[in-house]
Amino acid sequence: MNKAAIRTTCAYCGVGCGIAAQVAAAPLQAGVPGERAVTIQGDGQHPANHGRLCSKGTHLAETVALDGRLLSPMIGDQTVGWDAALDEVADRMRETIETHGPDAVAFYVSGQLLTEDYYVANKLMKGFIGSANIDTNSRLCMASAVAAHNRAFGEDIVPGSYSDLEEADLILLVGSNTAWCHPVIWQRMEAARAARGTKIVVIDPRRTETAEQADLHVALAPDGDVALFNALLAEMHARGLTDDAGLNVPHGFWAGLPCDPGVPADQFAALADLVAAHPRMVTLFSMGANQSSSGTDKGNAITNLHLAMGRINQPGAAPFSMTGQPNAMGGREVGGLANMLACHLGFSDGELRDVAGFWNTANICSGPGKKAVDMFRAIHDGSIKFLWVMATNPAASMPDVGFVREALARCPTVVVSEAIADTDTGRFAHIRLPAHAWGEKDGTVTNSERRISRQRTLFPAPGAAKADWWIMGQVAARMGWGDAFAYDRPAAIWREYAAMTALALRYGRRLDLTPYAEISDADYDAMAPFQWGGDYPLADGYSTPDGRARLVAVRAPMALAIDPAYPLRLNTGRYRDQWHTMTRTGYAPTLAQHRREALLEIHPDDAMLYGLDDGGLARVATANGASVFRVGVSDGQRRGDIFVPMHWTDVMAGGARANLLPAQRVDPVSGQPAFKNTPAKVEPV
Ligand code: SF4
Repeated sequence: MNKAAIRTTCAYCGVGCGIAAQVAAAPLQAGVPGERAVTIQGDGQHPANHGRLCSKGTHLAETVALDGRLLSPMIGDQTVGWDAALDEVADRMRETIETHGPDAVAFYVSGQLLTEDYYVANKLMKGFIGSANIDTNSRLCMASAVAAHNRAFGEDIVPGSYSDLEEADLILLVGSNTAWCHPVIWQRMEAARAARGTKIVVIDPRRTETAEQADLHVALAPDGDVALFNALLAEMHARGLTDDAGLNVPHGFWAGLPCDPGVPADQFAALADLVAAHPRMVTLFSMGANQSSSGTDKGNAITNLHLAMGRINQPGAAPFSMTGQPNAMGGREVGGLANMLACHLGFSDGELRDVAGFWNTANICSGPGKKAVDMFRAIHDGSIKFLWVMATNPAASMPDVGFVREALARCPTVVVSEAIADTDTGRFAHIRLPAHAWGEKDGTVTNSERRISRQRTLFPAPGAAKADWWIMGQVAARMGWGDAFAYDRPAAIWREYAAMTALALRYGRRLDLTPYAEISDADYDAMAPFQWGGDYPLADGYSTPDGRARLVAVRAPMALAIDPAYPLRLNTGRYRDQWHTMTRTGYAPTLAQHRREALLEIHPDDAMLYGLDDGGLARVATANGASVFRVGVSDGQRRGDIFVPMHWTDVMAGGARANLLPAQRVDPVSGQPAFKNTPAKVEPV
């Protein structure tokens, strides 16, 4: 790597790849828009990727130009200075709290925020506004895995590391198109497979690009995961391969397990034989499992199998939740979810008291706040009257976005902190605040294996753009809380957060960053990637009251009755070279070449049944909305299932809007929306 390269972290997914960026020799002056140039390479020294990058990371340089950037604060259509914009935000927030109480205020934030930004947002809402109405788009990504971890381990901990994928003899990929959605992890698996002959099984309704390369594809029905894993655990128990000594086992657990696995008998037998024969087994699960009305139960069904077979806390053996976003994990750690306090703490009297003491506040919230879907319902019904959206695009990314757009249109105050001038959500904003984008941000992120890395500044911020933590601190000061938010740099926030993890230890959690509580600015700037908790954070016990892991009794959900009006099952997902609602990848011409438009994938027999032609247009409708897609006939779809990608939106593509279609169904434990398995119908256009 050239000496001038800056080590930073990719903007996109939870793999958290290290990047070596070389910025053009003549940097711009702060605040002066102009051309930018950077060369992107994988960082050979970063433990997540060892120099590898996928197409999205490789083409990050195409996304750093200033086209489309929001460069000034705006009130309505008027460009204003920072003081006017911040005064307006604070005045409206104060008036809302005084008139309607703190629960009339909400923040909807993002796994794109850095940990330092997330920490400040959480502290401002839960500690000083006095409500816990802060939730994050990570609710849409992995909240079910969080809930499953809490139920099984007593804390939200991913119990393994990426290296386990290389040391496993068998990898089960559940609801994960890893080759497209976490490509560098797939590359690591492929390399290990070539070296040691690892068997790979894909458990997914679709024959995805990953499934095509697997040793076995188990094409289960949507939401068939709990039945499959319960039947698998019952089979392993019958073969004498389980041992529940040392586990917390609910009464009747084993008797309640046996069930129809829901897949062909030969597939189930092949899967069971593979599982029985390979003690070194990792089960990686992702959005296909989590985005479900039974997502938490799926996570626990998977974890039950690993716990009961002793396949955890040792090389090559772990249940492994793969997150979607670059800092979904960091957000979880600092309390970005409405149902957690910072540092993995809950809302017991003692925890609330200790957090209030640490922040020196009398305004601490009293209990959990509204999760994403409930938050937008509360905006829609008028009980939330002030919404601040940071670095995310709920008007395009939430399920049933038609409803979400109605809610945003009704909300008396919508503030949007954004890098991009025109987003689906920004169109509803009363106040828009220009925020730093990737390459301007400075702070830390945590990837799916609990590895914390620095994201570093490559370019001066353009126009009036500011860091999210600075923007929030300025509003806090106007609310009279300036002393608690007097940060002058990300390192100061990091030190405070690291010190706060002492509270996690007090309550038996394992999130420990206290060695960093007095880190110098220089050491923070130079901080190398590190993994909190080490390879096996649960090897010496669990964070439950009795120190034992819990098997959780979960039952297969009732299959949704087929409504003749909506006879198909719609699943949504991602393409290899696009990201979320395209607000970054949409600016990279090279990435657009992979898939130029959103395709409705449908089995040939269903296409014939409903009169659809390959390459023609089809209208997909659900009880919530309808969108038009080009048809892609594919025998990779099960009969009765259809698939559309979620990226294309009004603003970025002027095309298909997949998220008009899913309902507001959520997992009852985690509150994660069920983007999969939506009753739907199709017709030619
Ligand atoms: Fe970025 Fe994820 Fe690709 Fe790595 S795998 S380069 S983190 S998008």
